[in-house]
Amino acid sequence: MSRSAHPAGPRYADVLPEGHYTAPPADLNELDARVWSKTAVRTPAGSLSVGGIDVKDLAEEFGTPLFVLDEADFRSRCRAWRDAFGDDADVFYAGKAFLSRAVVRWLTEEGLNLDVCSGGELAVALAGGMPPERIALHGNNKSYAEIEQAIEAGVGRIVLDSFQEIVRVAHIADRLGRRQPVQIRVTVGVEAHTHEFIATAHEDQKFGLALGGGSHPDAGGGQAAEAVRRVLKLDSLELVGIHSHIGSQIFDTSGFEVAAHRVVGLLADIRDEHGLELPEIDLGGGLGIAYTPEDDPSEPHDIAASLREIVRRECRGAGLAVPRLSVEPGRAVVGPSACTVYETGTVKELQGLRTYVSVDGGMSDNVRTALYDAEYSVSLVSRASTAGPMLSRVVGKHCESGDIVVRDAFLPSDVAPGDLLAVPATGAYCRSMANNYNHALRPPVVAVRDGGARVIVRRETEEDLLRLDVG
Ligand SMILES: *Cc1c(COP(=O)(O)O)cnc(C)c1O
Repeated sequence: MSRSAHPAGPRYADVLPEGHYTAPPADLNELDARVWSKTAVRTPAGSLSVGGIDVKDLAEEFGTPLFVLDEADFRSRCRAWRDAFGDDADVFYAGKAFLSRAVVRWLTEEGLNLDVCSGGELAVALAGGMPPERIALHGNNKSYAEIEQAIEAGVGRIVLDSFQEIVRVAHIADRLGRRQPVQIRVTVGVEAHTHEFIATAHEDQKFGLALGGGSHPDAGGGQAAEAVRRVLKLDSLELVGIHSHIGSQIFDTSGFEVAAHRVVGLLADIRDEHGLELPEIDLGGGLGIAYTPEDDPSEPHDIAASLREIVRRECRGAGLAVPRLSVEPGRAVVGPSACTVYETGTVKELQGLRTYVSVDGGMSDNVRTALYDAEYSVSLVSRASTAGPMLSRVVGKHCESGDIVVRDAFLPSDVAPGDLLAVPATGAYCRSMANNYNHALRPPVVAVRDGGARVIVRRETEEDLLRLDVG
């Protein structure tokens, strides 16, 4: 998959990317279970139903574009992760994927913890009723106010990301008379994307503190070891563990294996230098989902078994007791639970190339395609069709050639203005990254379940936009 930034100009004549499916699916009406949420089915009339409700009715009532969030699917994924890791591990949902008060309530009920990385996310987490001790605060540049807000609320952990932050958090905790549990985020020299990971000697990125060279960093070198020394000297900080997050949309555990090896190496160094065995390690998130039927993610159960075994083996090798493990899936919880429903506005056939199908949203509600060439699939959902396949590019309504929702997809050739299209697997990083480009109004999120629909984030209005514009 290409990781380039989106091209500034139009890409007139490119063909299907290498490795992409070149043949249309046998049945364009089929809803592939790998990409659709669990309750998605075709109604006898041929339209899509999610949570027991016809999307035509949802579009009628709530308008388009519309995020339809399948509550039963979301809850079942929460339970799957929770059960897979069991009682001696913690699952932190990464709130940046999508956060609202309703979602926080579901997470709380299903036994997940919550990662936030800004004051705004923390405010929603607290307003949604997540117990503060189940919240972790992340970020490479938390403000003084955000740190204060988090410590005052009593968050369960703050993940330290720099030397300056050690001092800041210690100072604020001290002033508030608290002893704040913290983890130190380290960079393990592994970067993972989809099917491969890249081991780099020096991790050139803004997050975390470097472990230093070698797989068992010598206790004298490395920023992480120095951070440990500094944290241990500060009475207002309680060092509970080491944190690592290696990337996103990861499909196998080999990158985590390297990360665990290096994190456990640091734990062993800490024991040797300070006579202290830290009780927790966090291996981060980044577990992949199916955006198209070609993606084949592992089940939570298998991932959990594999990660636990890796940590056990590394600890045995280092002569350490096995610490409490935590993981932080965001995308793998909410990603598959939602789809975006759009209305088709125009259909433009470019002879010999493809057909451009324009919908009433675009890069304002899904910036991932423009931002990192993300792949999605798309289906006609207001009706079934017997028409043949048509190579299509689903584009938005924004003033950018890069405003692409689905770069290459087969749609029935009779797709016409007024038809509803839906893009599955848009639960993560779509509404949360939504923007007001062209003064678009960010779409609502409607939760569906057992034949009932409820707006959990309402549609923006022009009044909302004008309220911010003080004239
Ligand atoms: C983004 C992020 C996650 C979640 O990533 P997903 O790909 O959504 O699973 C977890 N932990 C940290 C520290 C992150 O930055």
